[in-house]
Amino acid sequence: MIRTIEFDAERREREIRLRTVGSHSRYERACRSLAGGVSSGLRRHVRPYPLYFASGSGPRVTDVDGNTFIDYGLAWGPLILGHSPPELADAIAAQARRGFTFGAQHDLEFEVSERLTEIIPCADRVTFANSGTEAVQVALRLARAITQRHKFLKFEGHYHGWDDSVLVSFHPTSAQVASAAGGPVPVGTGQRPHYGTLVVEWNDRDAVEKAFQEHSDQISAVICEPMLCNSGSIPPEPGFLEFLREISVRHGTLLIFDEVITGFRLHLAGAQGYYGVVPDLATYAKALGGGIALSAITGRAEYMDRIADGTVVHAGTLNGNPIALACAKATLDVLSRPDLYTELTRRAERLRAALEKLLRNRGCSVVTSGAGAVFHVSFMESRARRYRDLLAADAALYSDFALALLSEGILVLPDGRWYLSAAHTDAVIDDTVVALTRILA
Ligand code: PMP
Repeated sequence: MIRTIEFDAERREREIRLRTVGSHSRYERACRSLAGGVSSGLRRHVRPYPLYFASGSGPRVTDVDGNTFIDYGLAWGPLILGHSPPELADAIAAQARRGFTFGAQHDLEFEVSERLTEIIPCADRVTFANSGTEAVQVALRLARAITQRHKFLKFEGHYHGWDDSVLVSFHPTSAQVASAAGGPVPVGTGQRPHYGTLVVEWNDRDAVEKAFQEHSDQISAVICEPMLCNSGSIPPEPGFLEFLREISVRHGTLLIFDEVITGFRLHLAGAQGYYGVVPDLATYAKALGGGIALSAITGRAEYMDRIADGTVVHAGTLNGNPIALACAKATLDVLSRPDLYTELTRRAERLRAALEKLLRNRGCSVVTSGAGAVFHVSFMESRARRYRDLLAADAALYSDFALALLSEGILVLPDGRWYLSAAHTDAVIDDTVVALTRILA
């Protein structure tokens, strides 16, 4: 792709460094005791270095040097209502005075699980954990127990947490794709092989059919992000989720939707509500806790009863703790307000359209992709339909763009993903468009 635009990255980086000296010195200090200076590996991949934040309110965050940014990263997704929404802050404070955790039963457990069974189509029963990674492992264990099979099928580019079994073929390079010959590509070293993980390409029916032909009586589950948010926000092609539903039934395999991102971002009923396809099990995290660590596994009663009767073990000291559930209950209350999703989606679409228009007016090849309150911006000619198509995007140009946005007071994630919260009003979008116009002037 020929570049028609540059973002003056060197000058902008110098400016940002001058304005963020407090972050820089803290990062250097942290690196001396905290491995890598960050608490989750992906946070290192930002230019010029990871920033330190002092506070957040609604759609904005302020760093330790006093710079305020409109935040489209939203802590990698959980902050569906923005930073420190009063309803959630009050719910957490009130619960903190009553007790942090009991390691035992309390009313919020059934209050939140009842809400989830009302909202989520596949949810007859719910069980809680603390992270998306854990929730996915519980779902996969259930599928193995129910089917008495040990393999499972995942899609290239999809992320399901950092466990060895699923941390494969996430963002393989072209060379890795070529040399792996369809086999799973581990993301890091130290990962154990041989989990029975099969990997095929997203939106590729033939590849799924072929995997079932080759391994049909051994596949316990098909797991996917029902919209591929971790790589380009690539929607399922029309009929693809229905196809996964049908082929899973045909082979006695469970269909698992990993709704850790799509849950409460596409629709109150998640991707299941948005696309109208109901899986056997579904996992939730991020937006469910509104910013507090919480995840959930939901599913049909006949499957979840394996947890109820104790034959499938699910445990955790802080599972269902009242602080997280108080926050979840308040989050679900706000998300259930009429028109919330209509408005959220309208504003996201407005911003996407403005981004495309302004960048294309400068002759730039850019596409946005996604749905609801999550979308991706990629510098490429046409929309991707599978992970490999994204390898053609100009990632270095996006990195320069992210730096330019930062220098104009807009914070975005390094991978092209943009999240909106209910606090991103039209006025916030207007401010963003003004900043974009300045960058492109
Ligand atoms: N599944 C999906 C779809 C995710 O996006 C993530 C986190 N990015 C996870 C699972 C893992 O969740 P957590 O980081 O809470 O372990």
